[in-house]
Amino acid sequence: MIHRKVVVIGSGFAGLSTATHLAVEGQEVLLLEKNNTLGGRARMFEAEGFTFDMGPSWYWMPDVFDRYFNKFGKKTSDYYDLIRLDPSYAVIFGKDDFMDIPANLDELKKLFEGLEPGSGKRLDDFLNQAAYKYQKGIHDLVHRPSLSLMEFADFSLLKDLFKMDIFQSMSRHIRKYFSHDKIIRLMEFPVLFLGETAQRIPALYSLMNYADIALGTWYPMGGMHKIIEGMVSLAEEKGVQIRTNAEVSQIVGSEREAKHLVLSNGEIINFDFLIAGADYQHVDKRLLPPKYSNYSDDYWDKQTLAPSSLLFYLGINKKLKNLRHHNLFFDEPLGPHADAIYRNPKWPEKPLFYVSAPSQTDPAVAPEGMENLFILIPLAPGLEDEASIREHYFDKVMDRLEKLTEQSVRDHIVYKKSYAHSDFKKDYHAFKGNAYGLANTLMQTAILKPSLKNKKLKNLFYTGQLTVPGPGVPPSLISGEVVANEVMKSIKKI
Ligand SMILES: Cc1cc2nc3c(=O)[nH]c(=O)nc-3n(C[C@H](O)[C@H](O)[C@H](O)COP(=O)(O)OP(=O)(O)OC[C@H]3O[C@@H](n4cnc5c(N)ncnc54)[C@H](O)[C@@H]3O)c2cc1C
Repeated sequence: MIHRKVVVIGSGFAGLSTATHLAVEGQEVLLLEKNNTLGGRARMFEAEGFTFDMGPSWYWMPDVFDRYFNKFGKKTSDYYDLIRLDPSYAVIFGKDDFMDIPANLDELKKLFEGLEPGSGKRLDDFLNQAAYKYQKGIHDLVHRPSLSLMEFADFSLLKDLFKMDIFQSMSRHIRKYFSHDKIIRLMEFPVLFLGETAQRIPALYSLMNYADIALGTWYPMGGMHKIIEGMVSLAEEKGVQIRTNAEVSQIVGSEREAKHLVLSNGEIINFDFLIAGADYQHVDKRLLPPKYSNYSDDYWDKQTLAPSSLLFYLGINKKLKNLRHHNLFFDEPLGPHADAIYRNPKWPEKPLFYVSAPSQTDPAVAPEGMENLFILIPLAPGLEDEASIREHYFDKVMDRLEKLTEQSVRDHIVYKKSYAHSDFKKDYHAFKGNAYGLANTLMQTAILKPSLKNKKLKNLFYTGQLTVPGPGVPPSLISGEVVANEVMKSIKKI
């Protein structure tokens, strides 16, 4: 076995995944994280007896997590207890207009039938096609490094790609099957995770509906950070050395190789291979000298970023009624809010928002008799987010939450913290304060995404939500594996 010294920047899902894969291949791996806690956007914090997940809250595609731990001879249950949520989530369309989305497919079909006769059967047809896309997409396409078009050039794959409607929009695809407004809004919701509206996301991504409806919404007891804790424990068991409070401030190259990096305290660290799991644009434009950047400022400005968010972490000193674990407040139309995110970036007039109340499922995340709330308003990246505007939006959301769920919430807040663009920049060096990377539009798919390889320095690679395969926890896990495979190919070539 050939042993090389590999340094990984960043302890998000992608960094931890790539570090563990390379350690298992016998490489000496050092992982550097600028923050004092691990997990990147999936970190947690504790305050006043509450445990808050800072970022992801939806556990979808359980097979991807199973596969990850299985690869190392482990099971998810070695690290956390997973439960399937039922209802999967609730959608609040308006006053007295709440819809629980049942985990059971037959019940969901009944619900569809009640809204639009024939739509239950059409849901089966829709999901059959989506199942095929899921198998092909998640078990094959996302594992391709997308370094060359030739990876996609075999005939059966091309035939499959056409079968998968990659050139049609999700919006159009869904409307071929359904016409009821509520069903359409439900079916269009999962692609919002991909950072664009259904009009701009290719119909390949109905695989997200399969993930939602067929595979279900799960929750690791204790919180989403339990996944990170499991991954950290596994990484360390496999020999990865992890350092927190280790911010990389510079990557030094010469000829065709990255030579060493410099930490913010001036320490120099040498390596044979470097993998950047920190935000791609930060590494490309801030850590590297301009002559080694992969892309220009103009390129980055033209990329469609996934949204940023205004978040509130709230501790409530009573139990709340009329809320589920996951709650989508769709009581205002998506159109104007989507326009304010993607077309004419500005603070939206009447934002849609999402409320997670994990204490509805998990007593460990709040003191007894209390509620843990996480509120998310998706926003355009690059907005100013001073305290007064955060408060203005807090009031807007509270007014609606209290009215729609028919209870006082504001008067029962015992802990409150907000988080938005400037925090994403400070904590993660997030380009324009993005929350979840680069959108999966057709023009930003596979080989059209920022490359996982530096084009000038042959031992520098990138991983994470701004490169292949895309944003979200499962893709970031996979990204780490894909880049580790590429690094191993290079190591074996030397
Ligand atoms: C609010 C929010 C909600 C989300 N909800 C979901 C969800 O429900 N389900 C889902 O699947 N996905 C969700 N996502 C997306 C998901 O969390 C991300 O796609 C994923 O966590 C990204 O992982 P990553 O490893 O690519 O990046 P990150 O987690 O950002 O990791 C990058 C790491 O690099 C570190 N770093 C940056 N610069 C340096 C430097 N110079 N030196 C050293 N370290 C550095 C950062 O501190 C960070 O720890 C959500 C994201 C957010 C923000």
